[in-house]
Amino acid sequence: MIKPNNNDSESIANYKKDLLDQTFRDSVGTISKEGNRNYVIPQKPSGKMYQTRSLFSYLYLVLFFTLPFLKVGGEPVFLFNVLERKFILFGKIFWPQDFFIFAIGFLTFIVFVILFTVAFGRIWCGWACPQTIFMEMVFRKIEYFIDGDANQQKKLKAMPWNTEKLFKRGSKIVVFFLLSFLIANFFLGYIIGIDEVGVLVKEGIFVHFGTFSALVIFTLVFFFVYYWFREQACIIVCPYGRLQGVLLDRNSILVAYDYVRGEPRGKMSDLTSDKGDCVNCHACVRVCPTGIDIRNGTQLECVNCTACIDACDEIMDHINKPKGLIRYASENGIANKQKMVFSWRLKLYTIVLTLLLSFLAILLITRADIAARILRTPGQTYQLLDQNKTSNLYNIKLVNKTRHNIHLNIKLENIEGEIKLVSPIEVPKESYFQTSFFIVLKNEQIKSRKTKVKIGLYQQDKQMDVLTALFLGPSI
Ligand code: SF4
Ligand code: SF4
Repeated sequence: MIKPNNNDSESIANYKKDLLDQTFRDSVGTISKEGNRNYVIPQKPSGKMYQTRSLFSYLYLVLFFTLPFLKVGGEPVFLFNVLERKFILFGKIFWPQDFFIFAIGFLTFIVFVILFTVAFGRIWCGWACPQTIFMEMVFRKIEYFIDGDANQQKKLKAMPWNTEKLFKRGSKIVVFFLLSFLIANFFLGYIIGIDEVGVLVKEGIFVHFGTFSALVIFTLVFFFVYYWFREQACIIVCPYGRLQGVLLDRNSILVAYDYVRGEPRGKMSDLTSDKGDCVNCHACVRVCPTGIDIRNGTQLECVNCTACIDACDEIMDHINKPKGLIRYASENGIANKQKMVFSWRLKLYTIVLTLLLSFLAILLITRADIAARILRTPGQTYQLLDQNKTSNLYNIKLVNKTRHNIHLNIKLENIEGEIKLVSPIEVPKESYFQTSFFIVLKNEQIKSRKTKVKIGLYQQDKQMDVLTALFLGPSI
């Protein structure tokens, strides 16, 4: 927070007082002084932002549950099979041999995240992070449906274990567990393919015990996170949240409280005073799922869920003041009424991101369908043949990254000679293949002990790759 840029001395004095009281930064809102969990029970949000976020989350959920079923050429559009090291993005298969593309892709993603965060803060957390979407838009809504709003939930918590409490807790556990199981199935579907999950269901858990164990583990983890752990995942575990301190600057757009307009805080019962617009009603605090007071300024715990914007807008409506006391705004926007600035940091990140994206695009466009490696067979030197010829034996390893079998021929590119294949090069789709071949050269072509030979790989007449190898010959 910085000093408000206005001439209101009382507001500045009040603000300074607030500034001195920074003790909230010494602890996490969800952990008590004794180190116990402060279980947050937020009030159900309502308002325009919540409605928009709900609509967005429905679209998100439809995508999440339908994408595993979408296929291109019999393969899923997205697959992240870390076990078999097979990745499919937008229908294109990537192999460990494409590690370089992945590394550049990952780097691009990191720069994108940084750029996006510098400009728009944690908008990802509030609008697109699966943890927030499932927690706030699915599980929390079910909880409101079963247990009621915050006050009813608190009452239920304090209640002895009677029939109502047993029924509500039991229903919640069953529904949360079934939903966690469903999400785990789809999560697994993204890893091994939804067809494989279907096979597990058809053939039974004893035949696919490994897959079943993974499913149980995922289910239990999701259940634990959504039933109990909740906002702690964002506050304690998520590394992205921790990065905010270094990524955000005074121009970053965040969910923020306009302290220049809001301070000094007044009272709902005295709207005639010359106090700020905040009436200290705590409606923004009551709806916060991470249990913080946004009026304290930008905090690590804030996931930019916008619930406090809706809550405060409703109060502003009620007291006939303009909406937006809590809104998406930057520190400079609030303190100095500055519009969003395209800072040097943003410019630099944008240049780096553009370069990386261009490089990534080139890598993807020029990505070969076949990856090949040729090595001379270990332990072999050269073989002297009749008719003044010498041969070398080589191993060739190939990866077919396409969805069809590939037949290849090999030719010498820079020297005349013969190639003798041990077996035809038929590389099955999405597979590895390995064979050996001889290169035979006439002795007069061998000018030194090591001759560089270029070997072209051809699919019919189309050159797929050119590789270099060394041909050993007798010393001259
Ligand atoms: S402070 Fe506001 S935006 Fe941030 S988590 Fe709490 S309710 Fe959501
Ligand atoms: S909801 Fe608005 S008026 Fe009420 S305490 Fe929060 S900031 Fe102040």
